[in-house]
Amino acid sequence: MLPIERQQKIMEWLQENKAMKISELSERLHVSEMTIYRDTKPLIEEGRLLKTKNGVMLYEQPAVLSNHCSYCKKLSDGRLAMTLIKKDQSIEALCCAHCAVLRYFDIEDKVDQLIGQDFLTDVTISGKSAVYILSPDLDIHCCEPRVLMLGTRQRAERLQLGFGGEIGNIKEINEAINKKMNQTSSPCCPS
Ligand SMILES: [Zn+2]
Ligand SMILES: [Zn+2]
Repeated sequence: MLPIERQQKIMEWLQENKAMKISELSERLHVSEMTIYRDTKPLIEEGRLLKTKNGVMLYEQPAVLSNHCSYCKKLSDGRLAMTLIKKDQSIEALCCAHCAVLRYFDIEDKVDQLIGQDFLTDVTISGKSAVYILSPDLDIHCCEPRVLMLGTRQRAERLQLGFGGEIGNIKEINEAINKKMNQTSSPCCPS
């Protein structure tokens, strides 16, 4: 079998199995592991495969990253924007912590990670363990009731000192947003 034929086979199998060990490929193709390394090297360089600990896996482009908020459909490109990575590795953009929290609880069992930036430091943090502040007296030009995300309770309290608002973890803030939104009939996200 020519190298190109083995490469085609390897790609075919990986479409089915997603990931395979070098040893497994060498057995199936009746060639040495060294040959498999040589065969897969260009595929890895082309970005079609990814190297794993003892093998290779298919590289699947994450689903098209739209920069429209998956909750309110508004363009989300500011520093308030958050990213939700689902277990299937597809990615959703969220315009701000308001939509991020609501969307998170819409599809909680499908979420792998939720990430965004600490409002005060711009450091990237996990939205799951972040501290949120609801309705601070601070115009952030996004969805109402406005929600900001902070990495620590200490920073949230510092912000609260200056701008008021209600502090809570992702779960508490979700409940608080829903409560607030039930009291008003106006849409949350004027575009
Ligand atoms: Zn939104
Ligand atoms: Zn928003």
